Amino acid sequence: MDQGSFAERLSAAMAQRGLKQVDLLRIAAERGQKLGKSQLSQYLSGKTSPRRETLAFLSAVLEADLDPTSETEPTPAPTPAPKPDKPQEVPAMRKFDKSSKLDHVSYDVRGPALDEAMRMEEDGINILKLNIGNPAPFGFRTPDEVVQDMASQLRDTEGYSDSRGLFAARKAIMQYDQIKGIPNVTMNDIYTGNGVSDLINLVMQAMVETGDEILVPSPDYPLWTACVTLAGGKAVHYLCDEQADWLPDLDDMRAKVTSNTKAIVIINPNNPTGALYPREVLEEIVEIARQNQLIILSDEIYDRLVMDGEEHVSIASLAPDLFCITFNGLSKSHMIAGWRIGWISISGNKRLGRGLMEGIHMMSNMRLCSNVPAQSIVQTALGGYQSVKNYVVPTGRVCKQRDYVYERLCAMDGVSVVKPKAAFYIFPRLDPKKFNITDDEQFQLDLLQDKRVLIVPGKGFNWETPGYFRIVYLPRRAVLGEALDQLEDFLKYYRQ
Ligand code: PLP
Repeated sequence: MDQGSFAERLSAAMAQRGLKQVDLLRIAAERGQKLGKSQLSQYLSGKTSPRRETLAFLSAVLEADLDPTSETEPTPAPTPAPKPDKPQEVPAMRKFDKSSKLDHVSYDVRGPALDEAMRMEEDGINILKLNIGNPAPFGFRTPDEVVQDMASQLRDTEGYSDSRGLFAARKAIMQYDQIKGIPNVTMNDIYTGNGVSDLINLVMQAMVETGDEILVPSPDYPLWTACVTLAGGKAVHYLCDEQADWLPDLDDMRAKVTSNTKAIVIINPNNPTGALYPREVLEEIVEIARQNQLIILSDEIYDRLVMDGEEHVSIASLAPDLFCITFNGLSKSHMIAGWRIGWISISGNKRLGRGLMEGIHMMSNMRLCSNVPAQSIVQTALGGYQSVKNYVVPTGRVCKQRDYVYERLCAMDGVSVVKPKAAFYIFPRLDPKKFNITDDEQFQLDLLQDKRVLIVPGKGFNWETPGYFRIVYLPRRAVLGEALDQLEDFLKYYRQ
């Protein structure tokens, strides 16, 4: 028998169980096992080895195989932890901050008041939400034909598509552009994206050099300002004039052009004002772009949500000699904001922007393609009868809700408002003499906390004068009615 082996197994098993000699002796005494102190010491020093009975006892107590004749590996002795001479210094935990690229980027449509609204909802408080232009939750449903077409094509849209988009989708977009008179758009000038949002970012990244100035409306849909800034450019805001039905102030636009200006953005129909730009105004904007050799970027996502028998004119149709990019999509017209499908059409004098088109193509390739199932319904959506028309005729839901909200606001003391012609937004003003609003966000929060009504203040749309806010009039009439009752009541006592 290899005595050393037994001694090693015993000492390793004791160390592993954290038992000292005294502990083993005590256990033996408790269990009536004869085991003396010197006997145990001799086992551990390897001088003697135990009889079979003692070996079995020790093996059982230590739950280890101590028999040196068995095949089992002895229990390894635990590696003793190194004892530091002095206390170790614990390095400070590394923290991760957002990129400084986002320092001047803001997107307050989903800002802090929304967090407060969510907190209130968690407490069981029902919030009247007039803050977000998302049709589906308000009962505006996607046309059945569109849903059926997506379902039947799901199996065929599992793979990536061409980075620009499916042929059939782009063909339908090209034909739509032809109907709108947008000149010189070929299949290769159309790019689909995961919503217009995706493409605003993509085009800004491809186009903007550090220090470039881009003329953006104020108020604007704030993603434009955010994406210009994120791309390293400077969003220079030209004013839209409330006194002129929120049309762009052309003198202000002219005055804001500098040698660094690269492009003019227009949002037509407009979010947040609901303004629709007449042909004469568009012609003047084209002239400003022409004289200053600027690109025209036109966001027309609401072009099928036009009321009062008015017609939407696409600015690119008036500028065949300029480089234009028109942004459009199905989020609003087909109530499929969640499916994420939008597109750009590059038109006009494309020779002016060959390099930029290469950049756009590169950016498009880098994201491989946009959501293919959503692309698969573009042809169905743009062809045939446009069911969105049912909403915007005088008897339609959007139009009736607009009229109701407009009339209610007009009847409120100290509130003035321009009647929107398109989209589903209205942008009222609170009389500064009566309400003295100096802090838009405070107004938003106070209205939320007092009356459970959630709106977005003008500041969220890069509109600097306090006392303006946007209402989305998509909720059903009963909800709008309740929210407006609450607002009316609030304005009876609220002052800043
Ligand atoms: N442009 C404007 C003017 C909008 O109001 C919105 C959404 O509200 C978008 C673009 C984004 O649309 P999409 O859902 O296509 O990303």
